[in-house]
Amino acid sequence: MEGVIAANLAAVRERIALAALAAERPPESVTLVAVSKTHSMASVREALMAGHRAFGENRVQEAQGKYPQLREEFPDLALHLIGPLQTNKVRDAVAEFDVIESVDRPRLAQALAREMEHSGRRPPCLIEVNTGEERQKAGVMPADADGFIGECRERLGLPIIGLMCVPPLEEEPAPHFALLREIARRNDLKILSMGMSADFEKAIRFGATHVRVGTAIFGARGSGG
Ligand SMILES: *Cc1c(COP(=O)(O)O)cnc(C)c1O
Repeated sequence: MEGVIAANLAAVRERIALAALAAERPPESVTLVAVSKTHSMASVREALMAGHRAFGENRVQEAQGKYPQLREEFPDLALHLIGPLQTNKVRDAVAEFDVIESVDRPRLAQALAREMEHSGRRPPCLIEVNTGEERQKAGVMPADADGFIGECRERLGLPIIGLMCVPPLEEEPAPHFALLREIARRNDLKILSMGMSADFEKAIRFGATHVRVGTAIFGARGSGG
């Protein structure tokens, strides 16, 4: 019998394909990152058994608790860090994650560059832009984005491949997706990580190459997620 998570994954993949086709884009141009934060290893394993391989976690420590064993079973899984990264966790993050989506400040960028030099491991990175200019939220301000992208690429030599954003909860996300796309365009970055359970189809219309979907796959999270 097919489990709930496998069925949810199939439904989300179908919606992604339809949104991509409506935007006259090939469905393969959108990568689904299944956000497994707060969900159990058993839930992630169910998604893996259903053929899914790209996952997102927002905390280094939680990822370290779940993923090493899953990697032994499924060596080709890809783990994205989508949450704020403290500089004292940079070594662990570079060791554990395949993509770091939340590069958001110079001190973190410097620490990542040092650790990549030291370890020889160079996971591709995205720069998080605080498109809503929310005080409490992570991400570089839109006005500082071009400068920060330049610093990361040229001075620090980080493998920057794209941009990520989390629009303000209570706002229409379209202008935020459009702003992220524009910053990426003028910096010649091809990867756009935007769109979550509530708005991934709209994000695809605005050019998302990666959508980060948790609830629609794994169900509701408890508090603290
Ligand atoms: C939790 C989270 C998601 C997934 O959110 P859902 O609404 O459950 O799909 C996406 N991106 C980030 C950065 C998150 O923290």
